Amino acid sequence: MYEKSDALFEKSKQYMPGGVNSPVRAYQAVNRNPVFIDSAKGSKIYDVDGNAYIDYVCSWGPGILGHAHERVVEAVQKACEKGLTYGAPTEKEYLLAELVHKLMPSIEMLRLVNSGTEAVMSAIRAARGFTGRDKIVKFRGCYHGHSDGLLVKAGSGALTCSIPDSPGVPADYTKNTLVAEYNDEASVEALFQANPDSIAAIIVEPVAANMGVVLPKEGFLNSLRKIADKYHALLIFDEVITGFRLSLGGAQEYYKVKPDLTTLGKIVGGGMPLAAYGGRREIMEMVAPKGSVYQAGTLAGNPIATTAGIETLRILEEEKNLYDTIAASAEQLADVVQEAFGSRVCVNRIGSLMSVFFQEGAVTDYASAVKSDTGQYAAYFNYMLNQGIYLAPSQFEAMFLSYAHTKEDIERTCDVILELAKNNVI
Ligand SMILES: *Cc1c(COP(=O)(O)O)cnc(C)c1O
Repeated sequence: MYEKSDALFEKSKQYMPGGVNSPVRAYQAVNRNPVFIDSAKGSKIYDVDGNAYIDYVCSWGPGILGHAHERVVEAVQKACEKGLTYGAPTEKEYLLAELVHKLMPSIEMLRLVNSGTEAVMSAIRAARGFTGRDKIVKFRGCYHGHSDGLLVKAGSGALTCSIPDSPGVPADYTKNTLVAEYNDEASVEALFQANPDSIAAIIVEPVAANMGVVLPKEGFLNSLRKIADKYHALLIFDEVITGFRLSLGGAQEYYKVKPDLTTLGKIVGGGMPLAAYGGRREIMEMVAPKGSVYQAGTLAGNPIATTAGIETLRILEEEKNLYDTIAASAEQLADVVQEAFGSRVCVNRIGSLMSVFFQEGAVTDYASAVKSDTGQYAAYFNYMLNQGIYLAPSQFEAMFLSYAHTKEDIERTCDVILELAKNNVI
């Protein structure tokens, strides 16, 4: 059933570390070989052995419209005919910037980059340049890409592979990274009291989605806004996942909290490698060539990537019922999972993002997330995969729904989950 995938994995391991180009793809945490993907369309993804799956990974978030949306593909094909990259300004960059500003008004100015990692790294440089301070506060279990200074208590991939801190990152590079506890504003206040004049910014995933999905408790994001203001530090929302997913205006619209800087990735590129950072004008005007904070990119604002991003955001804007529809599907799934497993699981859900934690009790932070039974998750994952349901191969990654998931997809998934519970697989 998986022969071709297995063979490709063996061959790939010869030339790429672990056979993959991003660690979680190797399926280590679920004790099996990965499936190699041949194609995808709508809510389905197809592997090289001809197996079809209902996809709840959606490329880790970008696929909010499902795979290969006709309008996006057509726009990209047209753009390709005009050349793949110029390394010179284009109208597309302006159009995307204007659209992002319209949907997220706190982003008065932005810079396009190629990955979420780059967006966060650059936003922090701008925050340090603007404030003249070196330290930053991040939260245990939040992931902000793999740049040196942020690979501290970083959740997801690092969590899955049990590499909390990576060799190759000099201690000197992380000494300015202070770690607070998610949903615990007192832990943030304590760090500021100890370092009142040296913290440039608080960076947070407004909804944590890299230790599994963990919702901010009421008032938490507001408290961060207040603490940042009190100490003249900046508040950075890492909306690489939540941007254009939680709502059109992201978590900042959903929770009505305005950050100074925002990082975007995943959906903003419509499936192409594109990300962005931006925010208050006076901060972004620090960035070169307007200002002196240096940051650049050969392929930044690439015409194909911006085309996919613009088309995706336009569709999200046009489809008035999109967010309610996806959220309703996710709610239906969440209810069925809770019914199937009862108090043996904790289901966290917001909008089209959800996680099933294999443990009793609430998951509100890193400490409660890591209590989960990863062995049970692996059994759940494997059963689902064999039934044609493609989930994230880790307890600590979110489940993503798309607008392409049909009623039949959701019902089929619910049936498999109920069957699994009935057969006492876990
Ligand atoms: C995925 C992610 C990143 C990193 O983005 P890449 O494009 O993988 O570099 C940063 N922050 C958050 C919240 C993410 O989920």
